[in-house]
Amino acid sequence: MGENEELDACDLCGRRLDAEGENVWLALEVFRPEGEWISMAFCRQDHAAEWLVRPLPPVQTPVPLPRTWRDRLADWAVAALFLFAGALVLLGSYTLVRLLGGFG
Ligand SMILES: [Zn+2]
Repeated sequence: MGENEELDACDLCGRRLDAEGENVWLALEVFRPEGEWISMAFCRQDHAAEWLVRPLPPVQTPVPLPRTWRDRLADWAVAALFLFAGALVLLGSYTLVRLLGGFG
């Protein structure tokens, strides 16, 4: 951090945040009901106000990642594991019942 251009530049005019000399830059954090959070920085309060008057950028809905064959493979592996565990439980129960004299 610190050397990041996006952090050091005004989000309205693009000037460096320390362009005005003294520490007059301003950072804004915007929370929206959609649960989105925006963080902006401006070289001075005027620019923060100017930015805030404008319509906010559209809400960015998270794009679901396309499922890869790897994901499906993992799903099948988990399913197989559960089936295997289930089979073991059945086998264990059957053996127990046999031991206890069930099933004749
Ligand atoms: Zn500015």
